[in-house]
Amino acid sequence: MGLEAALPVDGFLTTQLRRVINWARRSSLWPMPFATACCGIELMATACSRFDVARFGAEAMRFSPRQSDMLIVAGRVSTKTMPVLQRIYLQMAEPKWVISMGACASTGGVFDTYAVVQGIDQFIPVDVYVPGCPPRPEMLLEGIMAIQRIIDRDGIPPMQGGKRVGLGLALQPTHAVRPQPVGLGVPAT
Ligand code: SF4
Repeated sequence: MGLEAALPVDGFLTTQLRRVINWARRSSLWPMPFATACCGIELMATACSRFDVARFGAEAMRFSPRQSDMLIVAGRVSTKTMPVLQRIYLQMAEPKWVISMGACASTGGVFDTYAVVQGIDQFIPVDVYVPGCPPRPEMLLEGIMAIQRIIDRDGIPPMQGGKRVGLGLALQPTHAVRPQPVGLGVPAT
């Protein structure tokens, strides 16, 4: 990786174990894609070379909940499908994270009907809501980076009374162009 050339021979680094573990965790998020509709196409685009989610260490889509720690729900979820999504969530490895991608997953979108779940957060904890119909791949990357920042800072998801609670971070839609990847820093406490 070129690290050997950048460091002095026999050099060493000192840091905290917590920071190393969090660095490894946030650099190796394995997504479990749950794509049911058009938002899924944008999710696929996020993995292509133009957007390259591999820059964030999150390109290993596993399609197996037991090998995943970041659930991305992209598209509307029907009431019939919800038990399947719940089971997938329960089977995922801890610590795990959930992104609700797009208006349909977060609120039911334009499908205000009895057959469509009006927000997956009624059934599973959601950490980041990614706005849009559909959200652009850059917006999904923002959502992944939001989770990475939380891991950098806190390490593991919050629990209340032994139960997982969603962080409920809502990203703001923005059209401001900025270079990628954005640096990840540990916020001053
Ligand atoms: S939010 Fe829009 S793009 Fe995404 S699944 Fe719903 S209708 Fe399709």
